[in-house]
Order: sequence, then structure tokens, then C-alpha cells
Amino acid sequence: MRLILLGPPGAGKGTQALRLVAKYGLVQLSTGDMLRAAVKAATPVGRKVKDIMERGGLCPDDIVVSIVAERIEQPDARKGFILDGFPRTVPQAKALDRMLKERGIALDAVIELRVDEDALLRRIENRVAEMKARGEPLRPDDNADVLRQRLEAYRKLTAPLVAYYRKKNVLRTVNGMAPIPEVTAAIDKALSAEPSAPKPARNGARKVTAKPRKPKTASRLGKKSAKRASSARKTAAAHKSPGRKSKSGETARP
Ligand code: AMP
Repeated sequence: MRLILLGPPGAGKGTQALRLVAKYGLVQLSTGDMLRAAVKAATPVGRKVKDIMERGGLCPDDIVVSIVAERIEQPDARKGFILDGFPRTVPQAKALDRMLKERGIALDAVIELRVDEDALLRRIENRVAEMKARGEPLRPDDNADVLRQRLEAYRKLTAPLVAYYRKKNVLRTVNGMAPIPEVTAAIDKALSAEPSAPKPARNGARKVTAKPRKPKTASRLGKKSAKRASSARKTAAAHKSPGRKSKSGETARP
């Protein structure tokens, strides 16, 4: 199985990914973890992205795409994987499409964790306060100001992926605000269900499938026409000649 977890920072993607790993035996591929490891090891990539990550911005697409391309080649990812935090932009999603196509594999589902941003901010503020109280080390990007930046990047660059994957018919949306076990159950259910129905495009570009026009029936005609149709029916019946036309142009059927 190959999945993507989509949702803003703090939506619980990492938590749910771990649960899916345990349940389906997949590997979790978190670009955030990979980039943090690169920063920690001070690799050339790590040095390039350190500042961007600390400010809550997005790292360049080419860097992230090549990290993922390399990672999905590893033997442990062959059975299946969960992408957590990737793709985050439309160009990344397109690069992923190409990568998967070249390998002859496809995505099974994209799970969108839908959350309320104000509640997310409260969540992170509480988490930071608790971690500080316990004396635990904080991530450099673990604070409300940086989270605001990250949410903005999500809204601008990542949120369009919801429509992107809906169009591809692989999107499943679950309520990420529910308690953790309920979100897990909703994901399980979503994985065995049909994808979310595609929504019509906005700005009037809505696709309309022409419906065949209904033939007029007595109930759709005005009262007078209905009366005429009924009397034509009677006349037709009297002449044992079905199919005569009423004045309204309707074929009166016995
Ligand atoms: P995460 O742990 O997924 O929240 O990611 C932490 C940070 O790593 C993000 O705020 C970005 O700076 C960077 N990052 C992770 N994944 C990506 C990605 N797919 N594209 C660009 N930047 C990323």
C-alpha cells in the first residue's frame, strides 16, 4: 500500500503514520525527519535548509524531491510506504507522479486530515508549555510564531493538493480534530471506502453534463394543457385510436 498523509503542521500526521506503520507494515517516509537528520549531520543539504526550516518556510522542491526519490528506492520501501509531509507543493506532487510512473507503481490513497487552524495553534502552545515544564528539548521550529508561518505556507502552497488529488480520485478526508483513536478508526474506514467525490471546479468553470430533456408529462403542463391532454386521451380511447396528438402537441396515450 502507498499512502500520502496530507494536512497542516500539527494535524497529527506523524501520530497517525506510526499507527498505520504498525497496522499495515509500511514504512513511514517523513521528509521533515529526513531534513532534520541532514541538518543535524550538517550535510551539504542540511546546511542549505537549516535556516529555512527554522523560519518555518518550505525547502526547495528539487532538494526534497531528490531525497524522496532516493528513499523510495530502498528495499524497505518496496512493500509500501506512507509519505508524511511530502508532497507539499504541486510541483512536488507532479514529480512524485513521474517517480511512481517510472517505477510502475501507483498511490492507493491520499488521506487528508482536516483540522481547525485556531485549535492547532492552541494545541502547539499547550504542547510547548508542557515540554518546557518537563524540561524537554524543543525543536527550533516548535513555537507559535513559526507555526503561523508554517500554516501560511500550508495554505498557500500545500492546500491546492487537496483539489489535485481529489481530481485523481484518490482523496479521502477525515476529521483530524477528533481524539487520536477516532481519527485512526476513520482512516481505517476511509481506506476501505470509495474516494471523496470530486467537487465541481470553482469560478464558473463547472462541468455540466447535459441532461436529456424530460418529455412533458401532464403534471409538468399547465392545468389547461393537462385538461386538454386528458380529454384528448378520452377521445382517442373512444376512437380506439391511441397516439393521437392533443392541441398542446403532446401525444396522448391511453
Ligand atoms: P515537518 O516535520 O513535516 O513538519 O517538516 C518540518 C520542516 O521541514 C518544514 O517546515 C519544512 O521547512 C521542511 N519540509 C518538510 N517536508 C518538506 C517538503 N515536502 N517540502 C518542503 N519543505 C519540507
